[in-house]
Amino acid sequence: MTAASLPAGEIPALREKLLAWYDAHRRDLPWRAPPDTEPDPYRVWLSEVMLQQTRVETVKPYFHRWLERFPTLQALADAPLDDVLKAWEGLGYYSRARNFHRAVREVAEHHDGRVPGDPAAFRALPGVGRYTAGAVMSIAFGREEALVDGNVRRVFARWTDDPAPAEPALWSLAEALAPGARPGDVNQGVMELGATVCIPRTPLCGDCPVRAHCRAFQRGTQAERPAPRKARPTPHEDTAVAVIERDGLLLLVRRPLDARLGGMWAFPAEVRRPAESVAAGAERAARDGLELEVCAGAPIGTVQHAFTHVRASYHAVRCTLLSGEPRPLRYDAWAWASPADLDSYALPVAQRRIAGLTAGSHRDTEAQR
Ligand code: SF4
Repeated sequence: MTAASLPAGEIPALREKLLAWYDAHRRDLPWRAPPDTEPDPYRVWLSEVMLQQTRVETVKPYFHRWLERFPTLQALADAPLDDVLKAWEGLGYYSRARNFHRAVREVAEHHDGRVPGDPAAFRALPGVGRYTAGAVMSIAFGREEALVDGNVRRVFARWTDDPAPAEPALWSLAEALAPGARPGDVNQGVMELGATVCIPRTPLCGDCPVRAHCRAFQRGTQAERPAPRKARPTPHEDTAVAVIERDGLLLLVRRPLDARLGGMWAFPAEVRRPAESVAAGAERAARDGLELEVCAGAPIGTVQHAFTHVRASYHAVRCTLLSGEPRPLRYDAWAWASPADLDSYALPVAQRRIAGLTAGSHRDTEAQR
């Protein structure tokens, strides 16, 4: 037995125990088809995209609202990207929504509107990685396809008592588990075990159906498996945000598709240069991004937001328009929006909070008059 592997002779018994436990203990989640019913590939795919990097409880209301808005794959394919991003607003990692939308359009156009059940064809769609392909193929189509996510990694590290299992070893153990009856339920069983029993730090080994196969349990090392990864320091980004107002309307811009938060609406902004003031940064954002001359005035407030690879501070400042008509040099669209209309734009969480601060500071200014 090498690191992160199990003797082949153990696999059938492990699968059997896992399936019996999954049948008895699986959570009733909105995207899971009831036992003995056919899963809807569109719903399975949607749930897998939403669940990446996001907790089950966060996803549930989004999943319901999404299906009310886009009940079928064709309805989603027909929808403009703005509507799709609006429905995704607040879930974060917006490239997931953009790619899902592109992929669904490809399915509508080239696969007669049916999610392809062939792993190679599905994997060729935009944004479909190895995990998503394994999940959708096995759960929706009963294909003997493997998957590895964070929960699976932890469970496998414990089964094999490997403190730092390498990706190829994890995938080959997943591939060893996939063949046989109900591959989708086997995959979901491992993930469910990781989510509810084989949890980080304090696994509930007394409730575990497969502890007889778990090397870490036998050796008492389960709390240390896998070993924590070394956290990399996260860079910090300081951004000046120009809240430009004209006749009670606020200027919004739509970010280019290939940028971070691409396709989402935002206030014009620029990352501050060394020693550059917020006011100067905001004026530069208006000038370089929109060819507008503005004068930065009262600060509105600062919003902090943590992305995966960067921590951002957004310093918003109220700006008066001096001259020019907006030209979206660094954006792909712009709009003057009334505060009441802001709700209809797809704004990322930090931008929504800036809008809230702006409304608050506006009320304060009015009250002082
Ligand atoms: S015995 Fe404990 S550590 Fe091992 S798989 Fe089960 S819950 Fe996880």
